[in-house]
Amino acid sequence: MKITILGSGSAYGAPMVFNNWGGIKNKENPKNQRTRASVLLETNDGKSILFDMGPDFRQQMNVNNVQVIDAICITHGHYDHIGGIGDLWRAASLLKKVITVYCSKETLGIIQSCFPYMFEDLREAGSNYVFWKTIKHNQKFISAGVSLTSFYAEHGRLKSTGYRYKNFAYLTDWHEVGDKSKSLMKGLDVLLLECNNGTLKLPNGHADIQVCMDLIKELKPKRTILTHISARVDHDELTSLLPENVEVAYDGMVVEL
Ligand SMILES: [Zn+2]
Ligand SMILES: [Zn+2]
Repeated sequence: MKITILGSGSAYGAPMVFNNWGGIKNKENPKNQRTRASVLLETNDGKSILFDMGPDFRQQMNVNNVQVIDAICITHGHYDHIGGIGDLWRAASLLKKVITVYCSKETLGIIQSCFPYMFEDLREAGSNYVFWKTIKHNQKFISAGVSLTSFYAEHGRLKSTGYRYKNFAYLTDWHEVGDKSKSLMKGLDVLLLECNNGTLKLPNGHADIQVCMDLIKELKPKRTILTHISARVDHDELTSLLPENVEVAYDGMVVEL
C-alpha cells in the first residue's frame, strides 16, 4: 500500500493567515509549510481512500496529481477536516463515479448542519453520485471494497474516529484513547498519529509529544509518523527530540508498506 500525507498541518495551517509563522524557526524549510491534515491511502489493488476533506482539498489533489478517489473517511466534524466537502459534488461529477463518505453519526450531524443544501437540494451535477454512510466506533466495514476498522479517541468535546487498514492506522485530533481502541491499534507497522502541540502542554483537546510517546510505548508500532502539527512547532526542532522509529510528517511525504 502507499500512504501519501497530503496535509500535515493543524487547523490553521503553517504559515497561518497573514503569513504568521507562529513558533516555526526555519521558514526556509519546506517541511514547515503545512496544509490542513489529510491522507490518501492507495491499496495494492488500485483503490484510493481519502481520509478527511479539509479546506485545502482542491489544492492537495492538484499538487499531488491525484486522479481518483473511491471513498472518503472523515475523522470528525471540525472545519480543518470537513471544509472541502463543498467540493465533493464537483469532484464526483468530474470523476463520473459514486463516492461514499463514511463517518460517525456525530460527524454526519455536523456535516449536515454545515452543508444543509447537500442533503436537501439534490439537483446539482454530482449530487446523485455522493452517498453518506454512518459507521459505529470499533467497527469493521468495507469502503469501496477496502476492509477498514474504525476506532475512536477523545478530542475535547468531540470524539474522533481513527481508521485502520491492515498494518496501518491513522489517528488524528485526540488527547486520550480508551483500552478498546488501543487493542485495535496493536501490531502496526505504521502509525500516523497527531502530535499537534509538540512539546507544549495545552488543554486544547490535542496531543503533545509526551502523550504520543506514552501511546507509542504501549502500542509499539514499528514506525510512527507524527502529523497534524501546529504552527507553534518547528519540524527540525521536534525531530531532534524523537527516537529513531518516530518521525515528523510533512506535506507530500510518501510511505510505502
Ligand atoms: Zn484538526
Ligand atoms: Zn479537531
